[in-house]
Amino acid sequence: MKGQTHKMTVSIDQHSSHLEQFKDFYEQLDDEGKTIEKLPRHQVEEYQLKAVNATLNHVWEHNEYYRSRLEEAGFQDPEIDNLTQLSKVPQLKKDVIRGDKGKLLCVEPKEIGQVHLTSGTSGKPIYTSYTLADQYVYDLLPKYEELFKEKEEDITAIALPYEFALPGLGFQRLFQFAFGTTVLSLGKGGYMAPVDKSLELMKEYQATVLTTTPSYAALLAEESEKYGIKIGEDIRLKKIWLTGEGCSSTFRERLEKWWGCEVSFFYGSTECGVIGVECSNHKGYHIMEGHVKVEIVDPASEEVLPYGKTGEIVVTTLLREGMPMVRYRTGDLGKLTQSICECGINMDVLELRGRQEHMLRLGAEDYSPFLIEHFLMEVPEAGLWYHLKLEQGNLTIEAEKFRTNLSKRQLAAKIKKHMADRIGVECKVVIRDDIPRTFGKATRVFTD
Ligand SMILES: [Zn+2]
Repeated sequence: MKGQTHKMTVSIDQHSSHLEQFKDFYEQLDDEGKTIEKLPRHQVEEYQLKAVNATLNHVWEHNEYYRSRLEEAGFQDPEIDNLTQLSKVPQLKKDVIRGDKGKLLCVEPKEIGQVHLTSGTSGKPIYTSYTLADQYVYDLLPKYEELFKEKEEDITAIALPYEFALPGLGFQRLFQFAFGTTVLSLGKGGYMAPVDKSLELMKEYQATVLTTTPSYAALLAEESEKYGIKIGEDIRLKKIWLTGEGCSSTFRERLEKWWGCEVSFFYGSTECGVIGVECSNHKGYHIMEGHVKVEIVDPASEEVLPYGKTGEIVVTTLLREGMPMVRYRTGDLGKLTQSICECGINMDVLELRGRQEHMLRLGAEDYSPFLIEHFLMEVPEAGLWYHLKLEQGNLTIEAEKFRTNLSKRQLAAKIKKHMADRIGVECKVVIRDDIPRTFGKATRVFTD
């Protein structure tokens, strides 16, 4: 007999959607005590093909833009015979939908339950509309119990923005409805979200899980010392989920040491929702194949690339009725491999490489800022706040001291030598003690 639970089951009255058919698939998995994570590949692919076709049908019937693109590409029926044929479906670029709230809408406007916007640091935002059923029914169908160990007894602190973008509310729903945890909605950066109050709340309620960005996890740890709240004693976390900003694996490991718990990455976006999650082996993100079909394409030729090749990440959402994303070009770079992960999860593994426009050109080569961060973080005396400044092809690293008696000059020399040894990059190093802390997205890279 199942124990009592306060997990909530939402049903949508008088609702018919192309997604109803997938309830059976997930109910059967539940009954068998399985999740999609360890299913044999052919079963996952069967499900994905069915879900892609259901989505293609749905957008064909309910959206002019999608339909005309499919017709232009020669489709007479919105149907593919196998997942490889997805490559025949036109790709969707951000520019096409930027600033246009209706272009991809597949339901009547009155059926929209929730609107989210991308932060829109460059130009007009991208609007995404969800029906209530999208967020409270279909989005919660796939379970990933191998990846998420959160349970009803957990207290989850969510230190992510709740305004405009998806992350805060998205995690709120995930933790409350899928896992039944208690949620502390700390927010991040807003005027109702002071750092000291956030730390006090985590202490008061004995938070066990924290979801936030890498830079904010560093800020909370740092500020706790100022307010006399001891991490590991007053706040004892079991797990931190990082999202929203990328960071290197060494930055992640530094946070693990500081917080004394496992820290894992979560990759998603406001447009596509969940995309990938790291397992405890930390060797990349397992693709959340219940929610999305991910492809890697050559950004120039648009050709689909095989496993092992780096290209742009293209996402097709599988469980959306309001505004499905079909072959959406995320702008993020990465490569896929088949899972041979020791965790036993069969879902493909994604290695994320950041964005092309964020690459730093040093000499004749492009470097991901995360790679440079990775080597910088290997120097234990370097702090978690830093700037990378690129001027006329010359790199200056501005860093702070971290719990060390080294002089500024000694630390600068040490970092300079380490960077030259590890990646062969000659750079100037300046040790500062006033690198600004940010509540928003951390800006660490400056180029001329
Ligand atoms: Zn794994």
